[in-house]
Amino acid sequence: MSKIKKIGVLTSGGDAPGMNAAIRAVTRTAIFNNMEVVGIRHGYHGMIYKHFTHLKVYSVSDVLAKGGTILKTARSQEFMTAEGRKQAYDNLKEEGIDAVVVIGGDGSLTGARVFCDEYYDIPFIGIPGTIDNDIYGTDYTIGYDTAQNTVVEAVDKIRDTASSHNRLFFIEVMGRDAGFIALKTGIACGAEAILIPEVEGQVENLQNFLEKGNKRKKSSNIIIVAEGEKSGGAFAIAEKVKEDFKEYSVRVSILGHIQRGGAPSAFDRVSASTLGYEAVQALLDDQKSVMVGFHNGEIDLVPFRKVIKIKKKVDPAQLEMADVLSI
Ligand code: ATP
Repeated sequence: MSKIKKIGVLTSGGDAPGMNAAIRAVTRTAIFNNMEVVGIRHGYHGMIYKHFTHLKVYSVSDVLAKGGTILKTARSQEFMTAEGRKQAYDNLKEEGIDAVVVIGGDGSLTGARVFCDEYYDIPFIGIPGTIDNDIYGTDYTIGYDTAQNTVVEAVDKIRDTASSHNRLFFIEVMGRDAGFIALKTGIACGAEAILIPEVEGQVENLQNFLEKGNKRKKSSNIIIVAEGEKSGGAFAIAEKVKEDFKEYSVRVSILGHIQRGGAPSAFDRVSASTLGYEAVQALLDDQKSVMVGFHNGEIDLVPFRKVIKIKKKVDPAQLEMADVLSI
């Protein structure tokens, strides 16, 4: 019999489609194993301000197919302070919560690690939930697949209008520090170029590249740009190239928050359900301070220490392939 009687579950950082499927799986697996479940609303903020709500089997009915997170999410500056974390710990103790499952991105898992370094007696298990897929130790994160599908659908539509008007489109997608969404959707949409934060000097090369495409008289050009200061963003890049390519009418489209919303794909529902189920199994096996992830299709438990320290890299071979395929 497990010592754990009551577990808390929360979503933190940016929301991602599939988080609800993970909450549902954590809740039902825990209840199946005779534990009580407390939903902690608004991420770490809710831990500090006791936004606790008891979850039953029916509390998570009809959420599997819904985007967003029924527990809401937040970013908490206070949890970054020792006082904030102490208050959170006291609240968990008072509520009788003896384990926590955190669903979120690398920041949220960093928060979990910092907390567990200070307070040893409440085990935390992490579930990678972010559309960015930028978490080391897992092949994919909850929400990434759905976000890619949303981008592909939008870019396909933009391609139709781009071809009709001989247009050069800069389409900005999410991924401030990581180009996974840009790279994969760029390949999926046959983008003429993909600009990601991991690669230097791409904007400078863009001019040469477009000249080549121009000679081939392409009817449209789609450039996928990962958002962020490194590239300057789609508007800034478009301004730079506008002057040299007068034959194209240059347009910019920022896809923005549609990438976070929508019903999770079948893939994200299955991944999130599996990760939620496995997170509770990990607690039953007396695991702590680990993230549940996928490695080559198998479940893997990765220490928070590694998840935080190691940066997940995009595969440069895929960028090369995208270049070849778009000649
Ligand atoms: P996304 O990838 O979608 O942005 P994320 O989980 O990385 O999600 P962050 O805003 O980086 O989002 O982190 C979420 C919360 O985790 C922060 O608001 C903060 O409360 C907590 N957190 C992050 N880093 C730390 C830290 N070093 N110490 C304590 N708490 C932290």
